Amino acid sequence: MSPRTAELAQNLDAVRGRVARACEAVGRDPQEVTLIVVTKTFPADDVRRLADLGVVDVGENRDQEAAAKAAALNDLPDVRWHCIGRLQTNKARSVAGWATSVHSVDSTRLADALGTAVTRVERTAALDCLVQVSLDPQAPPGRGGVQPDGVAQVAERIAGTPGLRLAGVMAVAPHGVDPRPGFERLRRVSEELRREHPDAGWISAGMSGDLEEALTFGATHLRVGGAVLGNRPPLA
Ligand SMILES: *Cc1c(COP(=O)(O)O)cnc(C)c1O
Repeated sequence: MSPRTAELAQNLDAVRGRVARACEAVGRDPQEVTLIVVTKTFPADDVRRLADLGVVDVGENRDQEAAAKAAALNDLPDVRWHCIGRLQTNKARSVAGWATSVHSVDSTRLADALGTAVTRVERTAALDCLVQVSLDPQAPPGRGGVQPDGVAQVAERIAGTPGLRLAGVMAVAPHGVDPRPGFERLRRVSEELRREHPDAGWISAGMSGDLEEALTFGATHLRVGGAVLGNRPPLA
C-alpha cells in the first residue's frame, strides 16, 4: 500500500469511527448513513485510491474539475459522483453527463435546466436532485440555497420534471456558529417535504467539522472532505 493510500485508509477509519459513535449516541444505525467523500481540488488518483478502499460516493463542487476526473476514471463504474457545489444553469448539460446527483438545486430555473440537460445526454438512471436550503435567514436571495418557505416550489418543479428524481434536502451550516439550530430547522423542512413527497428522504448535511451534530438531527448523507483527504491544496 502506498503511503498516500495508507494515509487515506487511516483517515477513513477515523471518520467511520466518528460516524459509528455519533450514531450509537442517538440510537441510529450507521448503515443508513451514506458517507460522501469530497474530493474537490484533489487528483483523480486519490479518487482511485478511495475506490480501492471501498468508497463509492464522492463529491465535487466544480463542473470542469469533476468532468475531467470522472472521464479519467470511467473504468470505475461503481463510483457515484455527487455535485455538491453552486451550479450555473449553463453547466447543467455537462453535469448531467457525470453526476448521479445534484445536491445544490436552489431555483426552479436550475431544475428546468437540469430537466432539459438529462434529455440530451445518455443516462441510465434519473438524476437525483436535492433542494439546497439556506440555514441563514439573513442570506441574500440566490446565495447558497432557498429559504425554507421556498423549498416546496422548487421541490414541486423537480418532482414534475421527467428524468429528475426528488431525493431530499441539503444544507451547509452557517459559518462560525453552533450548527445545531440550523440542522434542527433542516430536519423540520425535510419532515414537511416528506408529507408531500414520502420518497424524498435524503438529508445531506454534515461536513468534517460538524458531522456529529448533523447525525444527531437526522442527516442521511454526510459530505466530508478534509477529515479524509487532509488539507486542501490552495485553489490555482
Ligand atoms: C467542500 C465542501 C464540503 C466538505 O467540507 P470539509 O470541511 O472539507 O469536510 C461539504 N459540502 C460542500 C458544499 C463543500 O463545498
